[in-house]
Amino acid sequence: MASKFQAPRGTFDVLPAAGRARARLQAVATGIFERAGYEMIQTPTFEDTDLFERGVGKSTDIVRKEMFTFEDKGERSLTLRPEGTAPICRAYLEHGMHKQAQPVKLSYVGPFFRHERPQAGRYRQFHQLGIEAIGTDSPLADAEVIMLLSDLLGELGVPGVALRLGSLGSLDARAAYLEELKAHLHRHEGDLTADVRERIDINPLRAFDSDDAGVQGVMASAPTILDALSAEDQEHFDEVRALLDAAGIGYELDGTLVRGIDYYTRTIFSFVCDALGGQSEIGGGGRYDGLIEQLGGPATPAVGWAAGIERILLALDEEEPRRGRDAFVAIADPEQRRRAMALVTELRNAGFSAEMDLAGRGLKGQLKHADRIGAARVLILEAGGTAQLRDMASGEQRAADTGNLLGEMTGGEA
Ligand code: AMP
Repeated sequence: MASKFQAPRGTFDVLPAAGRARARLQAVATGIFERAGYEMIQTPTFEDTDLFERGVGKSTDIVRKEMFTFEDKGERSLTLRPEGTAPICRAYLEHGMHKQAQPVKLSYVGPFFRHERPQAGRYRQFHQLGIEAIGTDSPLADAEVIMLLSDLLGELGVPGVALRLGSLGSLDARAAYLEELKAHLHRHEGDLTADVRERIDINPLRAFDSDDAGVQGVMASAPTILDALSAEDQEHFDEVRALLDAAGIGYELDGTLVRGIDYYTRTIFSFVCDALGGQSEIGGGGRYDGLIEQLGGPATPAVGWAAGIERILLALDEEEPRRGRDAFVAIADPEQRRRAMALVTELRNAGFSAEMDLAGRGLKGQLKHADRIGAARVLILEAGGTAQLRDMASGEQRAADTGNLLGEMTGGEA
């Protein structure tokens, strides 16, 4: 029954089989976030375009090429959110959260949009979950958020995960290093791609991310930020590392690590999974001590991460089996339909999973359907108000008292 309509390029439908695996992932994540005090926040799916231009950075690929931007009827420029941190910082300021006890610890989950070239693990609408700890510059917060992502991937059983860790230094201290890096890039302009060359002066760090062999050659001899950290930034980074060491979280130091968003300062990290192909990053983040000020608020240090739900599920590559039903209420006599409705409701209200026939099948068809949906027991409602309870595994069937339905279900008194 194909129609000419399909999900737009780079998007996908989540069908129930895949939805079950998502539900498990979200339940595990919610448990971890709640136990650590990261409370749920939801922001709109679109924001003023300006928020992302200022927050994510005008020279980034996201802002230059990947945003779904449109004008509303009032000629305001809006953008489907490409990431979650700038909106959360906007909400933090808008709702005066800087007046609450700090840090404010938040978690989120939802759809994000980037106009990227679609491939396995890279979509135009994808889903992220993430956390932010806003209002502290303590290395403890960096270590805590990293540990929570490590715990999440561990509890889900994602195989082959490695953590890369770096520091970009604070904004002021980074300036001198960036001049050094720009000079290096200018010296090797002939070996760079046009894209990297154009951005030498506006975003030289991005050159570390290039997959072009010529650029990679130039970057192999480039100075790295880890050798140029200020004393304070070095001390902060050393403490983050010591805390991770103490917690038994292994990582690989990476002086070439950069992220595709401008707001990062100091600690940055990336969890990669060798089970994934080209798009091997499962989640990552870092500190963004300058972002809230950049958005017009008071100087407010913060740290957080986002992980891609589709990437985690790809790495897990397993389907969550469909759970059976505790009971199916079968209608042997059409007169019993209202009673069936009442009994199925009674079962559901008592916490049992229960279904009934919605398709007008005969009794034989209903038993077949009950078997197909994995019902453990079938309550057969007969003419005159009697009933039978059938155990689907053994095939045993006995008379049942529907006045004591819950007792019948548990095999004793209700
Ligand atoms: P970012 O917001 O760029 O730091 O990305 C955080 C995480 O989101 C990545 O590690 C990926 O797991 C996921 N992600 C980013 N972009 C996409 C995309 N286009 N499709 C699917 N997942 C993505």
